[in-house]
Amino acid sequence: MPNMQMTKTPAVEQDPIVRSCNFNEVSSGYTTFEMAKGEAERCLQCKNMPCVSGCPVNVRIPEFIKALKEGDLAKSHEILKSTSNLPAICGRVCPQETQCEQKCVRGIKGEPVGIGRLERFVADWGMAHADELPAVKPAEPNGKKVAVVGSGPAGLTCAGDLAKLGYKVTIFEALHTPGGVLVYGIPEFRLPKALVRTEIATVEALGVEIITNSVIGRMETVDELLEEFDAVFIGSGAGLPNFQRIPGENLNGVYSANEFLTRINLMKAYKFPEADTPVRVGKRAAVVGGGNVAMDAARCAKRLGADVTVVYRRSEKEMPARVEEIEHAKEEGIKFHLLCNPLEVLGDENGFVKGLKCIEMELGEPDASGRRRPVPKAGSEFEILVDTFIVAIGNSPNPLIKNTTKGLDTQKWGGIIADEETGKTSKARVYAGGDAVTGAATVILAMGAGKKAAAAIHEELSK
Ligand code: FAD
Ligand code: SF4
Ligand code: SF4
Repeated sequence: MPNMQMTKTPAVEQDPIVRSCNFNEVSSGYTTFEMAKGEAERCLQCKNMPCVSGCPVNVRIPEFIKALKEGDLAKSHEILKSTSNLPAICGRVCPQETQCEQKCVRGIKGEPVGIGRLERFVADWGMAHADELPAVKPAEPNGKKVAVVGSGPAGLTCAGDLAKLGYKVTIFEALHTPGGVLVYGIPEFRLPKALVRTEIATVEALGVEIITNSVIGRMETVDELLEEFDAVFIGSGAGLPNFQRIPGENLNGVYSANEFLTRINLMKAYKFPEADTPVRVGKRAAVVGGGNVAMDAARCAKRLGADVTVVYRRSEKEMPARVEEIEHAKEEGIKFHLLCNPLEVLGDENGFVKGLKCIEMELGEPDASGRRRPVPKAGSEFEILVDTFIVAIGNSPNPLIKNTTKGLDTQKWGGIIADEETGKTSKARVYAGGDAVTGAATVILAMGAGKKAAAAIHEELSK
């Protein structure tokens, strides 16, 4: 008999007051087998598996949950790994509420099955018991070589899948550490970096070579890679921050969320002076934006001692951040100034931020995004006192590859044009996927694109 409890088995979390002062992981997930089993028993094992259709990589959800419920964690892990190369990461950061869990029938009356929490439990078990599981071995080489540009989830997934088919895969990564946004963007308290390193090591164990400090378009071009490799996959992400283009954005104390988070996550500025890179947060910080990036920047600033306000031009209903991240931010004491937009960053006589001039907004008719358009309220300008201003209003693909690759068609906003099902671009033997194609999206969509491209590259090179 399934467990008919209406709500998810709660995960273990750090107390909000304690965690708002440290960078340790906020949630420990299910810490005992009994907790995970109890949640697994809520699954009805639906024959038509609606949850699977909500997952961009079609994780075999009822099957891995059944094996977990029966106590066969090795089998559950094997099932999970057969479709997802990075389950410990997806179990933590996937927007499950709009994907697999949104389609779960248990969500019709009550809460859906905690698929993400169960996925995390099994993936973490697999990492802890790696020695007892069959070793990952490189496949028999098939004599073909593929270059992958970028080591984020799209590149890692494409590389891993091709390596399993016998391709010699080399990843070229611009930064000194592989992982893309998983290491430079998403903070330690949501996604521990040691775990990302372990997941990357399993991709390397398949025989994938990762060359860091290698900026394609500067050191070698895509055309030069094509002389050496049979195909190229571009998974270079969307790392170019957008700014509001308002007066004062060049003042000291203004950061793009990308720079702010890279300093903290990749360069470990929260450990300064033990780490070399500093970050100046000040006493009062404002973050403009309403997505995951804004929540991460706000929660990092809070942990570094600032009083933090998120400024967002629509209402909470329209915020694109995960509901869980907004709730966690509120619990940690982040303030929200909604229906408000910055007009100018105000500076002192030394060129440092001293405040923000804002205007109140109201919601009009829906715009192209389907969300209600924010409209300024005439005469409602006001000022707030801040000494740090973090801009988190989105990212675009870096134009370097577009500008150095002849015949690679791109959208007006810079995204590489690629077929949705195969990742094929306008240039022969060149494929692309992830944020470089879609603009800033999600880890699992980038992984899904890497998977599809790997299958298409294999099909083309096997002809
Ligand atoms: P990326 O992860 O951006 O990786 C691209 C890699 O390519 C980078 O390492 C970059 O250095 C490298 N590169 C770029 N140009 C070159 C070049 N010319 N030569 C060589 N290498 C190059 N998604 C979720 O699902 N859940 C979340 O909770 C979530 N939170 C987020 C929080 C933040 C702060 C950010 C920024 C994003 C978040 N996202 C989240 C989005 C998600 O991380 C991205 O959609 C995903 O990482 C995209 O993967 P990707 O492989 O396409 O690109
Ligand atoms: Fe859900 Fe993400 Fe796991 Fe798919 S990969 S089942 S969307 S948590
Ligand atoms: Fe289980 Fe929900 Fe999927 Fe049904 S829809 S199989 S209850 S996870």
